[in-house]
Amino acid sequence: MIVAGPWLEPAVAGLLGLLIGSFLNVLVYRLPKMMERQWARECAESTGSAQGPAEPTFNLWTPRSSCPQCAAPIAWYHNIPVASFVLLAGKCPRCHGRISPRYPVVEIASGCLFAFVGQRWGISFAGAAWCTFCAALLALALIDWDTTLLPDDIVLPLLWLGLIGAQLQWTQVPLPNALWGAVGGYLFLWSVYWLFKLATGKEGMGYGDFKLLACLGAWFGWEALIPITLLSSIIGAIVGLTLKMTGGLRPGNYIPFGPFLAGAGFVVMVVGGNVVQKGLGL
Ligand SMILES: [Zn+2]
Repeated sequence: MIVAGPWLEPAVAGLLGLLIGSFLNVLVYRLPKMMERQWARECAESTGSAQGPAEPTFNLWTPRSSCPQCAAPIAWYHNIPVASFVLLAGKCPRCHGRISPRYPVVEIASGCLFAFVGQRWGISFAGAAWCTFCAALLALALIDWDTTLLPDDIVLPLLWLGLIGAQLQWTQVPLPNALWGAVGGYLFLWSVYWLFKLATGKEGMGYGDFKLLACLGAWFGWEALIPITLLSSIIGAIVGLTLKMTGGLRPGNYIPFGPFLAGAGFVVMVVGGNVVQKGLGL
């Protein structure tokens, strides 16, 4: 007989996190492509240019996942989080092409975050809300890193969920603090963007970053905005310098800010904004 112990909720949440992580890998790969197709369609419609032949369906569920090298469909038993990667030794069973280790890493990261949520909030509405927060933030960080996009389809529902979570006391942030956190987060980065643009004529970040900080403000309250912004700037600067020194910068030298905002959001979720603030000597 299985005896429910203190490990049960983190274990259940962690397993769910592994499965969700597997889905996030698909989402991160497909959502930007779906957005590009949507834009291309809208452009073609607005310019009245001739419609090409109907494109094959492409969404989160269709077509089925396949090997990027040999296009062999991936069987369900080769799609088990982490375990399949280990059993296949990181190679496609048909063409032996390399499978990116990022897939199991994302699954493990998602599993760990969910297990942490299960430990702290248990199997509850609050726990479900924080799991959603983790999954969405992880997806946003990866999509922004890959494509420098922060899709509204993820950011805006997450912002609303933060405000609703405050009202329903899932986040332990009073609603006014969450509301001003969202407003302040947006306006703060918006101001930085315009000051930077007026001073240098360049764009230092995108509107998605304002919305993402607004999100974090909604989830953690306005008090967390300064620790989150500082922490993400410091990590971003360290990563940026490292990439510069190792020659890993991409063309245009652009480093998206979203992954660092998301990283700071995870740190604040785990240790709390106060601890981050003290750690930074504020
Ligand atoms: Zn293959």
